Order: sequence, then C-alpha cells, then structure tokens
Amino acid sequence: MSADSGEASALQGTTRPHVLLSVAMSVDGYIDDASAERLRLSDAADFDRVDQVRADSDAILIGAETLRRDNPRLLVDSADRRAARIAAGKPEFPLKITVTASGELDPALRFWHHGGDKLVYTTDAGAKRLADSLSGLAEVVSLGTELDFGVLLDDLGRRGIARLMVEGGTRIHTAFLAADLADELHLAVAPLLVGDPAAPRFLDAASFPGAPHRRMTLADVAKIGDIAVLRYLPKPADQDIRFMQRAIELARLCPPSETAFSVGAVIVADGVEIATGYSRETDAKVHAEESALDKLDANDPRLARATIYTTLEPCSQRGTATRLPCTDRILRAGIPRVVLAWREPTTFVTNCVGVEKLRQHGVEVVELAELAAAAMAMNRHLDLT
Ligand SMILES: [Zn+2]
Repeated sequence: MSADSGEASALQGTTRPHVLLSVAMSVDGYIDDASAERLRLSDAADFDRVDQVRADSDAILIGAETLRRDNPRLLVDSADRRAARIAAGKPEFPLKITVTASGELDPALRFWHHGGDKLVYTTDAGAKRLADSLSGLAEVVSLGTELDFGVLLDDLGRRGIARLMVEGGTRIHTAFLAADLADELHLAVAPLLVGDPAAPRFLDAASFPGAPHRRMTLADVAKIGDIAVLRYLPKPADQDIRFMQRAIELARLCPPSETAFSVGAVIVADGVEIATGYSRETDAKVHAEESALDKLDANDPRLARATIYTTLEPCSQRGTATRLPCTDRILRAGIPRVVLAWREPTTFVTNCVGVEKLRQHGVEVVELAELAAAAMAMNRHLDLT
C-alpha cells in the first residue's frame, strides 16, 4: 500500500462523522403506539443515558415526520453536561438537524425555538418552500433533487461534525441502515408490547446490505432498570477497526524499550476475543503475537477460524535464535486471517517480509491504513526515520 492511498483513506475516515442510531422500542419492535399521546418507552434513568449520548455528540438528527409527530425540543437537559461541553470548547448544545424531502415544516415547532444552531437538509423543491418560513430560525441546505444521506454526511464532515446521533424515526433509521451508513446502534428495549399495526416500527422493510446473513457485532449489553440497552456495531469493517483499536490500547501497556517496538495483538474467533498480548508482556523479548498465542492451546479448534489483529506487521526474522518469528508462529497455529495497522519499517530489520510470507501461504492479510498513525503513535519514544 502506498503512502498516498493510506493518506487518502485516512482523510476519508475523518471526512464523514461517526453515525450513532439511537432508538427505544417495545419488545415487539414498535417505537410508539398509534395514539396522539407519545408512548413512554423509557424511564428517567434511560432518558438520562440518552441525554449523555446527546451531550457526547456534535449533532443530533431527527426526521421531519418525528418532528411533526412528537414536537420535541431535542436538547441536552443536564446543566452539568452543557457546562462540560462549554468547558471543552464546544457549543452549549449540539447542532440540531432535521431532514425533509417535502419541506413541510411548521415554523412554530418547538425544535426551532430551543437550543443552539439548527440545520435542515432538504431537496431543491423543499428548499424553495422553506426559504422564507424558516428564515432566521435555521440554515436550509438542499441535497439536490432527492435526499442522499451520503451527501448529507459529507456536508456534515466539512462542517467539522465528528459524531452524529440519529434519533429516528422509522424512515430515517431505515435509510441510514439500508445505505450502510450507521456505525453504531443503541437499541433500548422496553419490556412491553404494543401490537397495533397502525403504530410505527423501528424499521421498515428494506434491502439491508448482507441481510439476512450479515451479523452485527454486539458490543455491549446494559440493564437500566427494566430496560435492556443493546449496543451494536452494524458494519463488518467496524469489527476490524474495533479489535485493532483494542490492540492499539494493549500496545500502550508495553514496557518501554529503545531497541524494540511497542505492539499489541488480539486473537478473535467467532466475533469474540480469545487471547491478547503485547510486547515484553511476559519477558523482555516476547513479541505481542507470540504472547497472545502462548496463552492458547496449540490444538485449540478456534484457531482455524480466528483472526489475529496486530498493530505491527508480524516479524519474519528474529534476533533471538531460539524463538520462531511471529509469521511462522501464525502459520503453525493455522490462523487464516491477519489484520495489521502498520508495516514494519526498517528501523530494526532491513527487510521484513511477514505480509508477503503470510500471503504466500494463503493467509488473508488486511491492512488498516486508517489506523496506522494511531498504531505508530505508541512508538513515539523511538526515532522512526
Ligand atoms: Zn514478532
């Protein structure tokens, strides 16, 4: 991989914000009932959790249908959280965004009259309709003849929005998931049934990428009162990113050395971490991959379907003659997939051929160039010229 493409993908990674979908639903998948009164799915403790997620976001988006239906103010309620945002140099409130194709939005809605800046994404036709009615209340941006959520995210990226929270409704959540644009999903399940065919559901039917076989990563499960909060990572690529970030955190634990890199490694099977290691974890010479592999039985059947995440390319030669290079250890273990963030530079060895050798033996090697800089940063103490 050339330095240029690495830079390009790193740039792409920072352009669009991280997209978090947040929803509360009944056990049977409804987000409200069909009555005029809003159905309370969450309790105070769960609203407080949502308030924290809002405070952690740069922008909050809801669809026009939800805006018309619920007439929310969409604020960060906690004064402490707002003060913390200001102390961190952020605006008191996240940017509030709504999306409408038609431009049918009442300027009397509470959304326009509370909190900080407001932004409306719409179509050319919608923009015409809203130009006068929302003048002074919100910025109106047309995405063209129709709504394109990828273009919307590009625009938010250019505005410096790094974290976007999407609070529905049905059409908006469906659109983000169908376009594979959601990075994280917070699903709060309330222990009740709605059972009304006229009530809105979390999602419409759609052709979701990889459905029905693609599995999300279940990143976390929390119990808040009688509500289950499930945190999913919908995109498969995010699993690689997440485990590599874990490996980078492990590299932070390495005892410093002037003569060797600080590397972290995680072995994952069936979506679950089965062993971890880092440089010099168990003795002064041990490598991260070696340390992780040493914790598993050589005959562990999970190795045959495992991925090893390592922040640095596995070594193909070693100064310690009695120990196998990590490339050979990985091949011997029968691990079919290696994900790395950073190719070994020529600091300590003239020519590492770990990636080439693994590929020659049929191992799939994935390089996460977007995390190379973060992996390298664990080696700031070394002169990497
Ligand atoms: Zn090694």
